[in-house]
Amino acid sequence: MSHKNDDFKSALTVNEGIPQPPSVNLDSVKHFKSKIRKQLSVDEYVSGILQQNRTILSQAITLIESSLPKHQEIAQKIIELCLPHTKDSVRIGITGVPGVGKSSFIESIGMHVTTSGHKLAVLAIDPSSERSGGSILGDKTRMEQLSAHPGAFIRPSPSAGSLGGVARKTRETIYLCEAAGFDVIFIETVGVGQSETAVHSMVDFFLLLMLSGAGDELQGIKRGIMEMADAIAITKSDGSNVDKASRAKSEYQSALHLFPSTDSGWNPKVLTCSAHNNIGIADIWNIIEEYISLTKENGFFKSNRIKQSSYWMHQTIQEGIKSHFYENEKIKNKINSIEKEVLSSKISSFEAAQALLNEYFRKD
Ligand code: GDP
Repeated sequence: MSHKNDDFKSALTVNEGIPQPPSVNLDSVKHFKSKIRKQLSVDEYVSGILQQNRTILSQAITLIESSLPKHQEIAQKIIELCLPHTKDSVRIGITGVPGVGKSSFIESIGMHVTTSGHKLAVLAIDPSSERSGGSILGDKTRMEQLSAHPGAFIRPSPSAGSLGGVARKTRETIYLCEAAGFDVIFIETVGVGQSETAVHSMVDFFLLLMLSGAGDELQGIKRGIMEMADAIAITKSDGSNVDKASRAKSEYQSALHLFPSTDSGWNPKVLTCSAHNNIGIADIWNIIEEYISLTKENGFFKSNRIKQSSYWMHQTIQEGIKSHFYENEKIKNKINSIEKEVLSSKISSFEAAQALLNEYFRKD
């Protein structure tokens, strides 16, 4: 140590001999974290959520997402106690292929919605995370402006579990967000498969984002998904894209006329928008509000939610039975060898399934 430093004491002076803290042991951090979590009782979680405490809301969502039975038990109690406090909300599903502009759109309409005084929660269902362990929706830094907004809460997709399981968790998360005062809920999903059906069954309004100039097949959008849409928005309608977007708009408008009329009494709309230039965004929100007031008036809003509840009851039962089957020790011991026999064509898939089911139902 230099004597100069001794004489010249500044905030930058480094003294010798200060003992270094022990290196961080990951296990002890985990233990510490779980200790923090454990300190909250169910009532504390619930009152935290009702007081709109985001940290507690996030922790409760983590419990919902956890596969540990202990966490599930607490999560179910929290949900039950939160249910009577869920506010009137509007749940909106947003889908479209990767690159269509979902993040940019949600950022733009999200800013519009929050500046109009709403509290917005953005949740995601991402089937890719099940297959690849990665996520199309979650990893990159998305919606920077919106995530910094005090009126918005953004939660990426839970990354583990089957689509059914992830969808159920998202549905439970919706309840907690509503109890925490969020009155607009966006559920985002990638338009590549079954996840749209799951999202459609938990929202009031379903918005499909489409690119102009790319065929429907290219976008992987099946007719069934277009049929579910309450509105189609053609994205990136700016610059040299404006004409293409308005042509696409007329094409989709004609296509929608061919679909059977909807139970909601609503005629699906087609719009163009640009998230970058903030054009057409407010119009889409107006359309959503129009839809909500129409369906509240004609009773569809309520009857649809009731129908969705019974759908989710059945889904939850199926999911529960499925995981009970696959987690059964007898099944775990046998399933691989029996599957090998199917793969080597020794037995048929039906025989194999029957053998496993017999094993499962066998009373020892
Ligand atoms: P996501 O994968 O569906 O979430 O799409 P992103 O929001 O990440 O956007 C994909 C790409 O399209 C990015 O390069 C964006 O900058 C671009 N993009 C998104 N919205 C617009 C828009 O309104 N206009 C234009 N020109 N580009 C856009």
